[in-house]
Order: sequence, then C-alpha cells, then structure tokens
Amino acid sequence: MVSTKEILAKAKGLSKKDEALVCDAYAFAQKAHEGTKRYSGEAYMIHPAAIALRLANMELGATTIAAGLLHDVIEDTDITAKEIRELFGDEILFLVEGVTKLGHHRYHGATRHAESLRRLLVATAADIRVLIIKLADRYHNMETLQYVPSHKQKRIALETIEIFAPLADRLGMGLLKRNLEDLAFPFIDPDAYRHTNTLRQLNTKETDQGLERIRKTVRRELVKKKFSDFSTSIRIKGLWSLHKKLQRKHDDITLIHDIAALRVIVPTINDCYTTIGIIHSLWKPLPGKFKDYIALPKPNGYKSIHTTVLTHDAGIVEIQVRTKEMHIHAQFGIASHVSYKQLGKNASKSSIERFSFAWVRALIPSLLKISKKDTREVTTEKKPNTSLTPVWLTELAHAQKTTTSTDEFISGLREDFFSHRVFVFTPHGDVVDLPIDSTPVDFAYAIHTDIGNHMRGARVNKKLASFNSVLKNGDIVEIMTRKNAYPTQKWIEHARTSIARKHIRVALSKKEPLPIIKKIRRR
Ligand code: MN
Repeated sequence: MVSTKEILAKAKGLSKKDEALVCDAYAFAQKAHEGTKRYSGEAYMIHPAAIALRLANMELGATTIAAGLLHDVIEDTDITAKEIRELFGDEILFLVEGVTKLGHHRYHGATRHAESLRRLLVATAADIRVLIIKLADRYHNMETLQYVPSHKQKRIALETIEIFAPLADRLGMGLLKRNLEDLAFPFIDPDAYRHTNTLRQLNTKETDQGLERIRKTVRRELVKKKFSDFSTSIRIKGLWSLHKKLQRKHDDITLIHDIAALRVIVPTINDCYTTIGIIHSLWKPLPGKFKDYIALPKPNGYKSIHTTVLTHDAGIVEIQVRTKEMHIHAQFGIASHVSYKQLGKNASKSSIERFSFAWVRALIPSLLKISKKDTREVTTEKKPNTSLTPVWLTELAHAQKTTTSTDEFISGLREDFFSHRVFVFTPHGDVVDLPIDSTPVDFAYAIHTDIGNHMRGARVNKKLASFNSVLKNGDIVEIMTRKNAYPTQKWIEHARTSIARKHIRVALSKKEPLPIIKKIRRR
C-alpha cells in the first residue's frame, strides 16, 4: 500500500501544515474504510492511497490530495458531510461531495448521448479538481479491473473509452487519456487488442535499431550546434490509438509512420525551430506532414512541432520537438497549469465557488473544438437528429471576447454553462441535454424524429405531463407513442429547440399520412 511518506515525497512545495493535512486525511480515511476490502481482496485503503499518489505526481496541492484520500468516505462509510466539514473544512468537503455526485451518473452505452454525459460530468463537477480526482479514481479502478466481476467489466471499460478518456483528452491530459484507453481496450475487444499488440511489437522490433541510429545522429548534430540542455526519447504509440488509426487505414500498417516516434525536448521555442531546421537539413521532410502546433496549438492546449522525414536508417520517421514546459503540459494538461492557491480552512463558500470557475474558461477552446468534431460525426450518422453543435458554446466564446471584467465574465459563464441547459434522463438512464425551458416535445425529437412525430403522451418522473410542461434538471422523461399519432400546429409553440420545430414543420407540410412507425430502438 502506498504510504504517506511516498505521497509526501512526490508532492512538491508542501508546507509543514500541508503535510500534516495530508497525514490527517490519510489516517482518517484508513480508519473510516477499516475492514472493507477491494474486489482483489486487498484493504480498501490501497485505492484512495493510490489516487493520492497520482495526484501528488501531478503536483496538485495538499487540499486536492486530501480530498483524493477522502473521496469515497461519504459514499462508502458512515462518515457524514458534517464530520468532514468540521475536521477538514468547506473546501475539502466541496471536493469530496463533488466526486461523490459524479459517481451517480452512469453511461449505458448509447453513443448518441455520450457527449451529453461528458457535458453533464463537466457541469456537475463545477471545479476542475473534482474532475481530476474523478479521473485519478477511474485510473486506479481500471488498473484493478481484472478483479471486478466479469459482467461489470465491459460496461466500466466502455464508459472509460466513451466518457473519461475523451474528458482527459479535452483537459489536455495526454498521459492519462492514453493509459485509460489502453487499460480499457482488452475488455472491449480482446481479439483486436491482441492483434494490435502483435502488430506493434513486430513493427517496433523492425524499426528499433534504425530509430536508435536516428536518435544518435540528432544528438550529435545538436551538440555540434552547441546545445547542451536537451533530451531525446522514443515514444511508442498507445494501442487503442493505433487500433483506431489502423481502422481508418483499412488495417494497412505500412501507412502508419508514427508507431514509434523520436521526441526531442529543448529549452526554448527558438531552440525548437532551430532543431527542426537541423532535422530537415539531415533528412527530407514528407510534404504535408509538417505540423506546427506551437504557432497553432491544438484546442486542448497541446503544443509541439511534428515532422515526418525520410531516412536511410529507419525509413519514414516521425519526429516531435517541444520544450520541457510543453512536454509537461502534453502529459498532465490542465492539472499542470491550473494552479490553485490554498484557500485554507476558513474560506467562505462563495470565494471557493468563484475561484473554481476559472477552469471553465480554460476549457472553452477545447469545448468549441469538440462541438466542431460533433458536427462531423453527426453527418456520418444516418439520422442527424440531436443538435450536437450547441449555439451556447459559440456564445460563450463571444462572451469571452466582449466582456472585460473577469467577475462579470465568470458570472456570465456560470449562467450560460450551468443555467442555460437542463439535463434530463431517459427511462434507461441516458442523459439528454436541452436548452432551458424545454418541453417533452423537445425531448422526444432529441431522442428520435419518429418518436417525436408519433408522440401521444409523456410521463415526467412517472407522472403524466402535458406537452408544454417545462423540464427540470434530473427529470426522467418517458415518451409514449402511437402509430397514428402526429404533430399539430400547437406543438411548434411548445418546442424550444429549432430541431424539434423543424421536424414538426416538415411533418405538418406533408400531405400524405406519415409513414407508419416501425420498430424504434430505445437506446
Ligand atoms: Mn473511488
């Protein structure tokens, strides 16, 4: 089991008081979980202790580490919120309760709703640290997934691939994303996992020596140019990411040139461009493969220069050049640059809240990127029925430009992000997010055009509801259909979403009777 000593050794910049806090939280959690075991048969405490170590590794502060140690205490033991508040203060309680709340949302396998669930998690978290603790929690659960009863394994692995790995990616946490994916992969498709693993092994064996020679050449040339403070390494592509790329390339591994790539880390941005110049004078770059993510960072903040060159020693090789700072960010993402000053035990609730919204700003560019991606994904689906390119995201980006004061901006943001959407559930527990004031009509059309067009009634939280009743956060909505039911003019007034209005107009304009409803997939 990870000890407090190991955690404190990894954590950086902790004061004596901080260290005492981590030790207190550790001892408290250990006592609270005493006698409980993990599926592996080990003491439950191995879990929070492993999470605390990971958080310390990401250089998060004592508050976050303590919250990581306590994250399962409210859910799994007799300890109450009141006790946590009295012993550890409001801020830690806020984080622990945040993680507990996140645990209540589950993914049930409808990819259509995956984006809503991701957003719901972001909205519920309300503090980036909650999401980071949750991701560290998921990481350890994935590392120990082989002990979990087999009927649960696949659901957890799918949820990891569909929800948590994309979230980690969005937060720029590249290392975590890759590890989550590769831990989930064997449970999702064991055959493909073995196949990809074998392919990768064969390929890297083949290119190993050549790549090593390329690495030595680069090092020699850098030294000639008087570089002293640099490092080089070989990075191997993750298995899930390789599997996805193979699918795109029709399983032709000869088309993939970044299975093993050379990574060069130099001190400054200027050095990056100098290094690229040196590399391109040694080997010819492949046209169209040069990517300057320093001048144009990826929306999740990723920075590096990638180039692919043709070499004698190793054939086609991808080389990535970045500074040390960029390298840390590429691994830990938002966790590395959102630094939280410690608010202390006596922080007021509003100061904690205000403080924690800073991260949403950091998320906006990546959220916008995702919304663009959604448009692409939707066009490949047969029925682009859910409005996945939300206008509110674009509006958020504008708000960022036009609002000058940070306070004004943050309060505006909170309104948009948390108040302008409602999250409701299907009877199966899938999340659908809709604009505020949406009605069962909007919900029905968000599920499926046929459901909307043949709606005869709706139940909200198991009670019959009128078509114009306003949905609230957390409502469970069930739509009843009949094959000869069809929309009326009135529905247009009930609908808040343009997608529902559009489909109602189309249905009303059709002279012929609507096609008889066939079998509708419910999930
Ligand atoms: Mn946990």
